[in-house]
Amino acid sequence: MIKCKDCEIRIDYNLQFPERIFCTECWGKRMNNVIPFHPPKQELILLYEVVDEGGNAEWGGNSERDALAWIATSPTAVRILVSGWTTDDDDAYLVGQPLDITEIVREASR
Ligand SMILES: [Zn+2]
Repeated sequence: MIKCKDCEIRIDYNLQFPERIFCTECWGKRMNNVIPFHPPKQELILLYEVVDEGGNAEWGGNSERDALAWIATSPTAVRILVSGWTTDDDDAYLVGQPLDITEIVREASR
């Protein structure tokens, strides 16, 4: 017999999972801590960017409407991108990668 590393209850050695030197309850708690089943929700700030053929930003901002207006009138703008940021503070960081929504915008404005 061995003891659970967390609560010291006596447990049978688990031959199938020799690394699990915990009772079922403590193992469950540990797994819940390692793999959160419901990751905390994060408020995202959306930033729109209108870029030209070379990928240079012509316009950038929070307004969807302004982004659409820009790409509709600029002769050089070809793509519209949207990116998600954690906050609008100075220490904001990009979540994932910017998404190219040009096709969606094109389909929607037909
Ligand atoms: Zn335990």
